[in-house]
Amino acid sequence: MAIRQVRTIGDEILTKECKPVKEMNDRTRELIEDMFETMYESNGCGLAAPQVGIRKRIVVIDVDDGNQYVLINPEILETEGSQTGMEGCLSVPGKSGQVTRASHVKVKALNENMEEYVLEGDDLLARCILHECDHLDGKLYVDLVEGELCDTAAEEEGEE
Ligand code: ZN
Repeated sequence: MAIRQVRTIGDEILTKECKPVKEMNDRTRELIEDMFETMYESNGCGLAAPQVGIRKRIVVIDVDDGNQYVLINPEILETEGSQTGMEGCLSVPGKSGQVTRASHVKVKALNENMEEYVLEGDDLLARCILHECDHLDGKLYVDLVEGELCDTAAEEEGEE
């Protein structure tokens, strides 16, 4: 496993549509492991493959609900409700902004064994699924921010 470099806003790959994964292989397995490690290292709750420079439709999520979600070729089936809250992104370091998204989402995806499953999420998990799936279509949350992008607290940045 290895920590990969997180691409930041301005990098072209973050604006590109990603390609579906056709089969699982050792390289992709390693990518998924690295994505989790990179996400934990940065205290993120989700990471999409383009954020580490790979144009593939792969997302990893861990919102501290005891599960590690791998979503390959995710497809949003349903959204419901609405929530407004602060959002950040490892590719937009030091910033956050207010974004309104659905409060419930149902998504179909393949897991790391390329088996189809359906995941339903509320609140933070719903927000995270939608945010990460946007990355696969080259979209960043900064385009959805209501009002100004804020600087995150300096003391937060000063922590290890
Ligand atoms: Zn992001």
